[in-house]
Amino acid sequence: DGPILIVGAGQAATFTAEALRSGGHSGDITLLGDESVGPYHRPPLSKAWLAGELAGTAEPIALALRTPEMLAKKQITLRTGARVEAIDRERATLTLANGETLPWAGLVLATGASPRSLPIPGIDAAGVLPLRSHADAAALAAGLADCRKRGLPLVVIGGGFIGLEVAATARQHGVAVTVMEAAPRLLGRVLTPQLSAWFATLHRQHGVELVLDARIVAIEADAAGQVSAVSLADGRSLPCACVLLGVGVAANDALARAAGLACDRGIVVDACGRTDDPRIVAAGDCTARRLDDGSLLRLESVQNATEQARSAAAALLGQDRPFTATPWFWSDQYDRKLQMAGLSQAADDAVLRGDMASGAPFSLWHFRAGRLIGVDTVNDPRTHLLARQWLDAGRSPSPAQVGDAALDLKSLAT
Ligand code: FAD
Repeated sequence: DGPILIVGAGQAATFTAEALRSGGHSGDITLLGDESVGPYHRPPLSKAWLAGELAGTAEPIALALRTPEMLAKKQITLRTGARVEAIDRERATLTLANGETLPWAGLVLATGASPRSLPIPGIDAAGVLPLRSHADAAALAAGLADCRKRGLPLVVIGGGFIGLEVAATARQHGVAVTVMEAAPRLLGRVLTPQLSAWFATLHRQHGVELVLDARIVAIEADAAGQVSAVSLADGRSLPCACVLLGVGVAANDALARAAGLACDRGIVVDACGRTDDPRIVAAGDCTARRLDDGSLLRLESVQNATEQARSAAAALLGQDRPFTATPWFWSDQYDRKLQMAGLSQAADDAVLRGDMASGAPFSLWHFRAGRLIGVDTVNDPRTHLLARQWLDAGRSPSPAQVGDAALDLKSLAT
């Protein structure tokens, strides 16, 4: 029951700490986070929290995942502003940025991920902003308020979830928005062309200007160094007051790599969150999970962080608790909630239930060789839950059953 140190104080770190305590670890558990605040929810930063800031709501949206008092009750120590600089596996210690050295008997790496940048001239101009942390979100909220005041657009670079959520929130609060996506369609890595096109229509209906196949050549700044326009290869230059850089994240695996742990675009872990050092586990956005077929799976989601955290805590306590549940994810844009269950990228067939054009709920069912592998639903949480039950149980309706609008799918599940 020696001390357990947890690097990072985000979603995965917090859930690992709590699972260690509830799982019976009686020694010290310390969260070491490099931000100035304790654990908080990130998803609202592009959604409800940002909307609240733009609406000037008197009551701020509560972001805290756990307060320091809640952690203290479980005898979990939280240290904020504590950046871990190095891990010494031989001595079983780690070093903080302030030079302090701390011993550990077990180590958890839950360092999350960092926004990627782009090699474009002018990318360092003031007002070109990432969105990962609370501090980033506060800067973005100020940037959006500036767009509104000056009547200039926000340019979102990257048509992924974070970029599109911010675009939706900004549009709903009077900010003009242009989204620039390098690929020919939005959300191309995760959605079928059909659903990408549906999202494009949704955003255009709300007044977003979409530039697909965008080739950005430079970001222009004014004399004060503040972003003023984004220039495209076709000669266009779009004036703006703020740019959101939403081009994905890279796992924070540098510490692990420097300590000699296996990393491959993330800290390589097994289904139980173990690294190749039995005393060290990892969880959340910083990991790349080795699957049975040898491939690596990188997920960036709340569910992945919380489930891996529970597995990693169990592993440190000497138990096997593999994370094998169906991956799920959600995204809120305008009044639509997309929920995704399973991983549908390898699908060879998709069956639609409902009418995508009507504004009513619908679902898109993805099959591979006749077996269900994923379901995307819009404003249909009950179908999302049903799909997760099926996928978790390894059961599959047939494409024909899903395609039969008169059939109540729930009757098949029971
Ligand atoms: P994090 O929550 O990022 O925590 C890692 C922490 O470690 C950070 O505080 C970091 O500063 C700290 N750290 C890193 N290195 C060090 C170091 N050397 N020393 C000390 N501390 C360190 N997911 C969904 O499922 N649905 C959504 O709708 C959704 N929306 C999102 C919207 C936004 C704007 C963002 C940013 C993310 C969203 N996500 C969403 C993703 C989700 O928030 C992440 O998958 C989740 O937070 C991952 O948790 P984590 O603990 O792995 O990483």
